[in-house]
Amino acid sequence: MDKKQATILVTGGAGYIGSHAVLALQKAGYQVIILDNLVYGHREFAEDILKVELIVGDTCDRELLDKLFSTRNITAVMHFAAYAYVGESVTAPDKYYHNNVVGTLTLLEAMLKAGVNQFVFSSTCAVYGVPQTFPIPEDHPTAPINPYGQSKLMVEQMLADMDRAYDFRSVRFRYFNAAGADPQGRLGEDHNPETHLIPLILFTALGKREAISIFGTDYPTPDGTCIRDYIHVNDLASAHVLGLDYLLKGGKTEVFNLGNGTGFSVKEVIEAAKKVTGKDFTVLECDRRPGDPPQLVGTSEKIRKVLGWNPQYTKIEEIIAHAWQWHQQRHGDR
Ligand code: UDP
Repeated sequence: MDKKQATILVTGGAGYIGSHAVLALQKAGYQVIILDNLVYGHREFAEDILKVELIVGDTCDRELLDKLFSTRNITAVMHFAAYAYVGESVTAPDKYYHNNVVGTLTLLEAMLKAGVNQFVFSSTCAVYGVPQTFPIPEDHPTAPINPYGQSKLMVEQMLADMDRAYDFRSVRFRYFNAAGADPQGRLGEDHNPETHLIPLILFTALGKREAISIFGTDYPTPDGTCIRDYIHVNDLASAHVLGLDYLLKGGKTEVFNLGNGTGFSVKEVIEAAKKVTGKDFTVLECDRRPGDPPQLVGTSEKIRKVLGWNPQYTKIEEIIAHAWQWHQQRHGDR
């Protein structure tokens, strides 16, 4: 199919990962419509930066979805819209099951009714729970330890069942730690509240926070701090385009990990950030944060082999440098 004739509905396209995916879709020649309720998304990402049609609405709004699918010729859906604060999912699980599961089911029902049967889904390595092997392969047992991971796994299960029942084909991506920003500085990470390590370190480097806290220094890792697999948001975005191309060519339902396959400890990330920013700042050693597995590193051999994905930015310094450029621009003089 000619990409210029394929319109892709991107839910959550005004958010961090979704907006970078829209940029990659545009570069690949696809037409895009964004559906975003703007609870966490940024109107200006869609309207001013991406200059894409933005429909402000919710994936739980069946009437809106039916209207959208019946009036627009949508070829496939990329679904990013979700709540993604692990801690909040523990204290407000209903909110997560409603938005992430009910919202997605509503979207899938509307797609079925409209005969749209190609779906790219952002899942998470949180579906693995506390991993038993490293690096984690896709066939590792799934056993989420929080409602966020559980809600994503439920959707994965729905997708597998829908494929069996209706030839509804999907690609599910299990992300490790998304980080970095558009290398040209147009888009980046801007969560409110912010809980992620790299942006919090950069706020500290900017002098917007007094210190960065290390959550736990007694883990069974070489320096005692947690190890994570940081993946550049542009490499996530390019994987989504490959996944979509694959589905449009008739590819079968698949699940892929998306990580670099290399882990960095919290202390290593802080040291790298000091080098990149040229700033020194206060680092506090604190208690563990509940629910953090000591180590999460995935193997992405499968997507490299099946989709030919090849991440461009594997150096942690480069990932942090792009985030730093964005943070300085967005928050530097506030
Ligand atoms: N972390 C930390 N201090 C912070 C925020 C995070 O030490 O202020 C640690 C956290 O415990 C985890 C790692 O940094 O081991 C990455 O956390 P983040 O929230 O960025 O991503 P997650 O791995 O939870 O998805």
